[in-house]
Amino acid sequence: MQTKTYGHFINGEWVVGTETFPNVNPSDTRDVIGHYAQGTEADVRAAVEAAAAAFPRWAASTPQERFDVLDRVGSEMLARAEELGTLLAREEGKTLKEAIGEVRRAGQIFKFFAGEALRMSGEHLRSVRPGVEIDLIREPVGVVGLITPWNFPIAIPAWKVAPALAYGNTVVLKPAEQAPASAWALAEILSRSGLPPGAFNLVLGDGTVGASLVAQPGVSAISFTGSREVGRQVAEACARRMIRVQVEMGGKNPLVVLDDAPLEAAVEAAVNGAYFSAGERCTASSRLIVTEGIYERFRAALLERIRQLRVGPALDPNTHIGPVIDEAQLRRILHYIELGQQEGAVLACGGQRLELETPGFYLAPTLFDETDNRMTINREEIFGPVAALIRVRDYEEALAVANDTEYGLSAGIFTRSLRYAHHFRRHVQAGTVMVNLPTAGLDYHIPFGGHKASGYGPKEQGRYAQEFYTVVKTCYVAP
Ligand code: NAP
Repeated sequence: MQTKTYGHFINGEWVVGTETFPNVNPSDTRDVIGHYAQGTEADVRAAVEAAAAAFPRWAASTPQERFDVLDRVGSEMLARAEELGTLLAREEGKTLKEAIGEVRRAGQIFKFFAGEALRMSGEHLRSVRPGVEIDLIREPVGVVGLITPWNFPIAIPAWKVAPALAYGNTVVLKPAEQAPASAWALAEILSRSGLPPGAFNLVLGDGTVGASLVAQPGVSAISFTGSREVGRQVAEACARRMIRVQVEMGGKNPLVVLDDAPLEAAVEAAVNGAYFSAGERCTASSRLIVTEGIYERFRAALLERIRQLRVGPALDPNTHIGPVIDEAQLRRILHYIELGQQEGAVLACGGQRLELETPGFYLAPTLFDETDNRMTINREEIFGPVAALIRVRDYEEALAVANDTEYGLSAGIFTRSLRYAHHFRRHVQAGTVMVNLPTAGLDYHIPFGGHKASGYGPKEQGRYAQEFYTVVKTCYVAP
């Protein structure tokens, strides 16, 4: 069967260039989902020019007009959650349940920002001078470039596109080449949403397209989510051009389990955080920091629970853990597993590639025992179904180990002690803290972003999104 070729969406038109790249199902590499246009510098320029031309019109749109567009997009995503979730699971490899959940979340994000378009407001202040009134007026930034990773191929584009449009900006989106189908589906919905031509543009392709977007004159801000190394490059390039930037990157997220923790709930949170979505989440619990009074019981219960996890194709309803995204990622993870063993970590389970009936990128859920926080597996983001147990004496040591990392995205603690829970909330260095909850799993209307090497710039999502997607103009008025 001939697969379809999918193009860019530029200035209200679908454009297919000369070069394309295939998108392959990681659960079954015989399944080619489609061929996608490889963007060029000229495509990026055309998209930015279209967005710049559309900006005055969209910036002047009424709150009602923006509400209608975003609400329509959200409604369609919610109504088609199963169909779009199936596509997402097919291209990304997370389970169908997770994928449908992600599409629903994306739809809810559009609904939330539809409401925010109505609420966009400034602030009124009194001057020290008699009769002078001061208003802080929020205005859109201009053309924003959005660069997204493959692991949440519809939710992350949604949590950037929806606020960008809600606050009156125009957009050029560059999704990851490993999972372009979901972003293309979102663009298709946006193309019928009532937006003026050029207000939303999609340019597909590899990292060169992202780099070209960052370098385009005419782009006023870049919001990037992805790896730390690329995030650093993007932030540096934006700083040189003195344009607004927000980069959200990886994590090495600690889940602390204290002696008094509810064992079953803590084990469930570890399984969720470390292995669901094949561990390919920035908020994955890759470091399980456990105090010695509960260590043996926690490890035994966790190993028992891991044994029950079924690895399989994303669309199989019996699957708990799907494949990882591609061969390169699989090899990278196996390299870390080898390194862990070389550095003296004990492999408690997993550690190998799985050959199943369908050819895909399957890995056994892997647990390292008795690891040291200085080992490479505890320093670098692995981004796969791999977690490491770290034994600590007490709460104080657990907190010190939790903070002993360059990253600071999400951190969790399991304890019945209010005192430790409160102390941890205050003193752990992370953008998000979870008490008696997994490190992953975020509400769609709540701000999210990392500290330290996990994030740079204002937080995303929720009402905080306006800090990035608007500029404040200070306006003095005398009678
Ligand atoms: P990545 O390799 O950094 O890529 C992210 C995006 O940047 C992709 O669209 C990529 O294009 C593009 N890109 C690559 N090189 C570029 C360059 N020089 N200039 C501009 N753009 C460039 O990350 P990934 O592998 O897709 O995603 C996994 C990472 O994302 C993990 O580290 C994960 O923790 C992080 N993440 C963070 C969050 C968060 O909110 N903090 C959420 C999800 C994921 P191509 O892929 O087409 O090359």
